[in-house]
Amino acid sequence: AVARARFVADNPASRAAHERAVAHLPGGNTRTTLFYEPFPLTMAHADGCLLTDLDGHTYVDLLGDYTAGLYGHSNPVIRRAVESALDNGWNHGAHGTDEARLAAVLCERVPSMELVRFTNSGTEANLLALATATTHTGRGTVLVFTGAYHGSVLSFGSGAFPLNVPHRFVVAEYNDIADTAAAIDRHADDLAAILVEPMLGSGGCLPADPAFLAYLRARADETGALLVFDEVMTSRMAGGGMQELLGITPDLTTLGKYTGGGMTFGAFGGRADVMAMYDPRRPGHLAHAGTFNNNVLSMAAGYAGLTELFPPSAARELFDRGERLRARLNAVAGGRMTWTGMGSMLTVHFGPGPVTGPRDLRPAPAHRELFHLDMLARGFHLARRGMIALSLAVTDHECDAFTAAVDGFLSELPD
Ligand code: PLP
Repeated sequence: AVARARFVADNPASRAAHERAVAHLPGGNTRTTLFYEPFPLTMAHADGCLLTDLDGHTYVDLLGDYTAGLYGHSNPVIRRAVESALDNGWNHGAHGTDEARLAAVLCERVPSMELVRFTNSGTEANLLALATATTHTGRGTVLVFTGAYHGSVLSFGSGAFPLNVPHRFVVAEYNDIADTAAAIDRHADDLAAILVEPMLGSGGCLPADPAFLAYLRARADETGALLVFDEVMTSRMAGGGMQELLGITPDLTTLGKYTGGGMTFGAFGGRADVMAMYDPRRPGHLAHAGTFNNNVLSMAAGYAGLTELFPPSAARELFDRGERLRARLNAVAGGRMTWTGMGSMLTVHFGPGPVTGPRDLRPAPAHRELFHLDMLARGFHLARRGMIALSLAVTDHECDAFTAAVDGFLSELPD
């Protein structure tokens, strides 16, 4: 209550903005995950790794827009790419040159990607991957996992009431081979796809056990289902995504977030024999339209980002920085918190570990809200749920300062 009262007193302009927004947006919100009590901050400006709110407070941005903000705010390379795209006009209603260049980079880097198509969001990419799998196999069932988030209509976690499209979804326990085996055995004949995040992102930054993913690969081969990796968040782990790190190649992969350079973006792609269904030169091809699929801003920003700012060497450096940060945070946590994740994506869980699957997650304690408000008061912006996604603009200096802030929080927290 004290932390909330201080937050209200410190943020009159954000509070007034929230009150205005509530009149026309349900709860003042158009993106559920951004809401928190007593009201979310409204940002006015961002540059590099810093965010400034309406009341003039500046925060180190450790959330990185849930991985979409990989390049840091107002990155000059991205800005130049967008500006030069704008110089040539938009809404051409025709092909541009950037979409083929962006597709070439993705197919070069991501092991499973032989052909790719673009969409407007990760949600759409996953919906289309599933439509591709059901059409290709002529089957209707999709296996998904507890804790998974594949987009606004494809949510299988706990928490807010999920909004699901009417596919035939079967949900098995993430990272649990026995439970998954039973689900696959029950549905083997009708299984079109196995859709999985190689690390649960929204579900708490819980990496898949490599043996679990290898098992899914083997069962997909045996049943004829397509294995789909949702790498919307995890593709940042290496030039070729987590599939490259693990050496496990899915049939289809979905991408999104930073891959469009911070503009609205999604992509799905994979095996050429499957993706060829979309080739409009072929009789009986599948139609996949979408006014903004090749919008010039996303295509230009995405290509510039991947080629000029995020070559595979940069992915390795970012991964290592995140690993170092997580190790230090767990060292100062002394068992009172457990920081899970991999590379540049981390999430805090209160209490001792290990936390390896959704079953290990305890109900969010009051500590979590207090931690979020306390970190804001100390000048660090992270997700309400305690998630961090480092951007390229975050340096060791910010990581040191954040580790000290977490240490400070814990030293003031009663047992
Ligand atoms: N897949 C994963 C793993 C995600 O984390 C998200 C978004 O958080 C999505 C898909 C959906 O992407 P979008 O928000 O662009 O629809």
